Amino acid sequence: MFGSGSPDAELMFVGEAPGFHEDQQGVPFVGQAGKLLERLLAGIGLTREDVFICNVLKCRPPGNRDPQQDEIDACESHLFRQVELIRPAIVATLGNFATKLLSGRPFGITRVHGQEHEAVLGGRRVTLYPLYHPAAALYTPAMLEVLEADFARLPQLLGRGAPERVPEVPPLVLPAFDERPVAEPDAVQLGLF
Ligand code: URA
Repeated sequence: MFGSGSPDAELMFVGEAPGFHEDQQGVPFVGQAGKLLERLLAGIGLTREDVFICNVLKCRPPGNRDPQQDEIDACESHLFRQVELIRPAIVATLGNFATKLLSGRPFGITRVHGQEHEAVLGGRRVTLYPLYHPAAALYTPAMLEVLEADFARLPQLLGRGAPERVPEVPPLVLPAFDERPVAEPDAVQLGLF
């Protein structure tokens, strides 16, 4: 299962390995974790077609067990080649396996989530941004909150600023002109009116 999304994506997500449904459909993150990933993307004004999503392993480990080192070694060059071809600005690693592989460091996701740093991948300089794996966040509300907060920084890291938001509070309705208090000159100077 190669991956899916935009070949010109600025933002690339790297998960762990395809599960049963991903393996059947040839598309990454199609289960519940994928739905959460799509919801988080929607929160920053993106869809899965705007980004590229793939995994460390390109084949499903039997019984969904953790990836083994020889499997990671076998798939690694494909992942680096994907980074080389897609040329993302940010590679967001989802969970421990992608984070440890792409950072080249042994630190786990609990310690490094939300901490962006520069890395050279596939001969390109990218920003690595470790995030909790959505599958882990699905069942742990505290982790979901952290994942949401880390996700909310992505627009800023992409240099786009925050996406336009639908206002959560209704706009203030001012009284009719005649009913407004006359502004004191000091208040006008302070920009209060
Ligand atoms: N979890 C992953 O890490 N990758 C997928 O594609 C689906 C679930």
